[in-house]
Amino acid sequence: YPSLSKLIVLFTVSGGGLVAYAEAKPHSSLSGVESSQVDTKKKRVLVLGTGWAGTSFLKNVDSSLYDIQVISPRNYFAFTPLLPSVTCGTVEPRSIVEPIRNIIKKKSGEIGFWEAECFKIDAKNNKVHCQPTPSVGSTDLGVKEEFIVDYDYLVVALGARANTFNTPGVVENCHFLKEIEDAQNIRRSVIDCFERASLPNLSEEEKRKNLHFVVVGGGPTGVEFAAELHDFIREDLVKLYPAIKDLIKITLLEAGDNILNMFDKRITTFAEDKFRRDGINLKTGSMVVKVTDKEISTKERSTGETSSIPYGMIVWSTGIGTRPVIMDFMHQTGQTNRRVLGTDEWLRVEGCDRVYAIGDCATINQRRVMEDIAVIFSKADEDKSGTLTVKEFQDVLHDICLRYPQMELYLKNNRMKNIVDLLTDPKANVNKESIELDIEAFKSSLSQVDSQMKNLPATAQVAAQQGSYLANCFNRMKECEENPEGPLRFRGIGRHRFLPFRYKHLGQFAPLGGEQTAAQLPGDWVSIGRSSQWLWYSVYASKLVSWRTRALVISDWIRRSIFGRDSSGI
Ligand code: FAD
Repeated sequence: YPSLSKLIVLFTVSGGGLVAYAEAKPHSSLSGVESSQVDTKKKRVLVLGTGWAGTSFLKNVDSSLYDIQVISPRNYFAFTPLLPSVTCGTVEPRSIVEPIRNIIKKKSGEIGFWEAECFKIDAKNNKVHCQPTPSVGSTDLGVKEEFIVDYDYLVVALGARANTFNTPGVVENCHFLKEIEDAQNIRRSVIDCFERASLPNLSEEEKRKNLHFVVVGGGPTGVEFAAELHDFIREDLVKLYPAIKDLIKITLLEAGDNILNMFDKRITTFAEDKFRRDGINLKTGSMVVKVTDKEISTKERSTGETSSIPYGMIVWSTGIGTRPVIMDFMHQTGQTNRRVLGTDEWLRVEGCDRVYAIGDCATINQRRVMEDIAVIFSKADEDKSGTLTVKEFQDVLHDICLRYPQMELYLKNNRMKNIVDLLTDPKANVNKESIELDIEAFKSSLSQVDSQMKNLPATAQVAAQQGSYLANCFNRMKECEENPEGPLRFRGIGRHRFLPFRYKHLGQFAPLGGEQTAAQLPGDWVSIGRSSQWLWYSVYASKLVSWRTRALVISDWIRRSIFGRDSSGI
């Protein structure tokens, strides 16, 4: 912190700065573009990935302004929140995917797509190294050559891979639930377990082993899968396999003390009670240490006791890890000892002016609030020997609130309320008035906010909002190049032409099976039960990416309620 022990804020003009800045348009990054580089030729934008973040960017960007190329190993967008429903045939895989070419066809201007995998990002030379996606089955097109693509701007939206925490045997013996193929494999595997357990020459012990389904990870995906599987078994499979119905067991293993620990406590408790009532064997505080082709070994966190359980099928869902290409890029940019790429609040990869990273592969590097503010105040201190005009103080405060949305609320709810009111109310009569700001009180308010700062969750909501935010920034890039003066007056850390990315949390769902869903909506409004299930149906139907997928998913739900789920092992 600067040497100021008391900061004297001189009110020489009336307020209004915060209001004016709130109208500033999003984003910057293009600050790196020299005017000499701005030419009439369209800039090349390369988008890596066709998941939530990449697709949202493509849907929102004005494609007539750029020469856009998309690279992804899959030529479709998958609606991941419905993947657990695909594992049990509640929804068919094709109902939740939209070909990426359908999406880009609707855009004005040309957008190119190559089905390939990027294996190296060379940000120094603005190049990306790619190889064609390995072909499936016998349809080898014979294209094996690697190729290099140049770009002016790169949008990295590569997502993440499943995290195994290097647990031995997981990759070889467990199913993951990340991609459409994973969901299809799980569906086949469930039916295989039932068919194997029905064979005549098996002992009861072997049948029990085949019918033991283990889910590792009590997060939203693991819980939803366990609930789907329980419904599938109870509503459909027990009728088809009556002889073995008493041997079926579902176990949910969670290393922490509770499942769904990112949800409100009421939801966690309800979900745990419901699972126990449903006969799902819920084991919390239990860490998986090894998996072989026959058994899964666990260690109790509290006692250190180990045990091995035979299983028929395991689904591993313990969070996300870093893709190798991202890991390599992080090494290049000096971002070692991190899990995902760090960006600034404008979603630029730190140290690479023309590279943006959005979605699960990135995280906004929240510089410590205190450090930032110290820089802002020391700048003011240097210039004004400890005295700020109201305009300057507005700039400082505005910069703080822009960077840390929680700060604005916090200031309003605490000691700073009067000051913020004065500064934000253009009608406030503060001319020539002076006020003493207790810097120590201010400092302690800041450190409390600092400790509350959390990374954004890796969800489709965040990825989609980042994609559309970045697209808006790209759409305004030209306007900003023509008006290089940003809205903020303090140079250095706070000077950007766009507002930083702000995440708007719209709530989250946890389907718990038996037509019961828990919903946690903004304002910590919690609802659990059938009414939330209907809310879930309507929200997910409305969020699907096209009318075609919407119609398919709704017809799948109707088909399931009339005829049940299909149990053929194809
Ligand atoms: P992804 O959607 O994973 O997309 C990554 C893209 O990069 C893909 O197109 C992939 O093919 C491509 N790619 C990968 N490697 C390469 C490469 N080397 N070169 C080029 N392209 C590559 N979130 C919610 O908000 N609500 C939910 O209900 C929810 N449910 C979920 C259920 C499941 C089963 C799962 C797995 C996730 C769920 N999520 C949910 C999380 C959500 O799916 C992710 O946060 C979201 O997909 C992240 O978007 P993304 O674009 O960063 O990554």
